[in-house]
Amino acid sequence: MTTTFPLRIAPIRGSVSDAEWQARVDLAACYRLCELYGMSDMIYTHITARVPDSPDHFLINPNGMLFGEITASSLLKVSVSGDILYRPDLPYGLHPAGFTIHSAIYRARPDVMAAMHTHTVAGMAVSALECGLLPLTQTATRFYGRIAYHDFRGPERDPAEREALARSLGRHNYCILRNHGLLTVGESVPEAFIAMWGLERACQAQLAAMACNTKLNMPSEEVVAKSCAMYDPPNSRRYGLLEWPALLRRLDAADPSYRD
Ligand SMILES: [Zn+2]
Repeated sequence: MTTTFPLRIAPIRGSVSDAEWQARVDLAACYRLCELYGMSDMIYTHITARVPDSPDHFLINPNGMLFGEITASSLLKVSVSGDILYRPDLPYGLHPAGFTIHSAIYRARPDVMAAMHTHTVAGMAVSALECGLLPLTQTATRFYGRIAYHDFRGPERDPAEREALARSLGRHNYCILRNHGLLTVGESVPEAFIAMWGLERACQAQLAAMACNTKLNMPSEEVVAKSCAMYDPPNSRRYGLLEWPALLRRLDAADPSYRD
C-alpha cells in the first residue's frame, strides 16, 4: 500500500463486466473533467454511477484522491446498504456524507444512473440566496421550474437525511442544496455532467449580473416558459450525446490515464 506519487493501483479491467468497466471509464472521465473545468473541491464532493448490470451497487471516489488522479480502477464499488464490495489497495475509504447523499438518490430513483455534486463558489453562493436560481439568462431558463431545493441541516451523515433528500429531490434532476452546493442526476454520466455544466454556468452568470449593482432585466414569464419548453424532448436531443465524445477526445489528447 502506497500513497507516494504516482499512486499504483492494480488494473481491474479483466475482473469486472463490460458494463461496469464502461461505467468506470465514464465516471473517471467525469472526475477529470470536473477538475479540468474548475468544478472540483480538492478531494471533497462526489460523483457516482450506478453499476448498470448490478443496480443495487454504485461506483464512488475513494476519500483522499484528487479528482485529477481518479482512474477507472480506483473507484470504490459499494452497495446502497453501505457494504464496500471493491476497494483499491489504498488507505482511502468511503466518505460517510458522500455515501448518504448518493445512496439516497439510488434508493429512491431507479431511473437515475449517475449523480454529481459540487461545492463550486458560484454554486455555493446561489445556494445561499433566498431567491435561488433566477431565469435571468437563456442558460438558466433550461432549469426554470425544474430545480428542487433541499434545506441545510448540517453535514449529511444521519441516515434519516437520506429520506429527507429523496423527498426534496422528488422527480427532479437538478437540486440546489441550500447553503451547501449543487446536485444533478441523469440517466447517464454524460447527462449528469452536462446538466452540471449548464447549472454551474447559470449560477456564475446570475452572480455576475447581480454584482453589477443595477436593475436586472428579467425576461417575461411567457418568454421564460417558451425557452424552457425548448429543452423538452422531442424539441431537444439528449444532453451528452454530442458533447461526451468531444470531451473524451480532449481528455485523451492531454492524459488518457483515466482509462486505467
Ligand atoms: Zn457537499
